[in-house]
Amino acid sequence: MIVILRRDASEEQVRRIVSAIEEAGFGAHVSRGEQRTIVGAIGTSPEARPILIERFKGLPFVDKVVPVLKPYKLVSMEAKTQREPVRVGDVSVGPDTFTVIAGPCAVESEEQLMAAARAVRDAGARLLRGGAFKPRTSPYDFQGLGEEGLKLLAAARRETGLPVVTEARAAGQVELVARYADVIQVGARNMQNFDLLKEAGRSGMPVVLKRGFASTVEEWLKAAEHVASAGNLNIILCERGIRTYEQAVRFTQDLAIVPVVRELSHLPVIVDPSHASGRRGLVGPVCRAALAIGADGALVEVHPNPDGALCDAAQQLRPKQFEEMMRRLRRLAAALDREM
Ligand code: PEP
Ligand code: MN
Repeated sequence: MIVILRRDASEEQVRRIVSAIEEAGFGAHVSRGEQRTIVGAIGTSPEARPILIERFKGLPFVDKVVPVLKPYKLVSMEAKTQREPVRVGDVSVGPDTFTVIAGPCAVESEEQLMAAARAVRDAGARLLRGGAFKPRTSPYDFQGLGEEGLKLLAAARRETGLPVVTEARAAGQVELVARYADVIQVGARNMQNFDLLKEAGRSGMPVVLKRGFASTVEEWLKAAEHVASAGNLNIILCERGIRTYEQAVRFTQDLAIVPVVRELSHLPVIVDPSHASGRRGLVGPVCRAALAIGADGALVEVHPNPDGALCDAAQQLRPKQFEEMMRRLRRLAAALDREM
């Protein structure tokens, strides 16, 4: 961290900064320019750093405090030299691949889930999605089948061979979800549910971490750091649209963030064009854009009969539409030297 003092800072004030750094157990390096004095703190720990930064920012003779290291060290590019895949069974998510995770928004019945699972497998999806615990904005909306839904997901995996991605809505659900699923999804509304993040971290299971729709990249990566600091680096980041003033789409897919995250973190980053756009007609085009901009995959909602779906009916693809989308994606992936 570098502390830039105001022009009129006195020697006594410089000394105060130096002693605060030294008292915290770190080295201080003073550099006097013609106009300004700056103090560098050397060897600070990730726990001490934010405390010192806040304290110095509040001092009237300090102009600016500039952190040098990222506040999310385990998931940052500073921790590794290259981007790393997350493995789910024999499926690798990222880099140089484009992994499609597909299935219904919610598990509704055996018949519905099996039809969706077979359709997405036949069209080339590598993982099956489906919610058993649904985070719904209204308490009157369909909340999911709970453990019954998890059992159906496990049966769909046996039948199709596709590993299963499903959401845990609370820390207390992680153990149950981990018993049936292959990947734990942390939903957008739960991105800062720190107890859930820690528990997902302790489980050691691969985690899909959705970006909160009002969260910055830094907050998203700090959320990932919670999972990582509990001992689990198997994290797949998922951009699922953020809230803007725009009403023509459900959320706004923040595609430019994909290359930004790829620079900042070694974790794979996928995109969810279904929740971002809210309309099935936009899912294919946004998915192709996601592949082109460098995303490692996509999470897509597919329902055998979306008109009868219990949630997110307007955005779920029909099996035929998904098949067509996958055909076009494969052509694009081949042109971009990406495996699908
Ligand atoms: C979902 O994937 O079904 C879901 C609820 O997503 P999000 O948390 O992004 O809204
Ligand atoms: Mn949904």
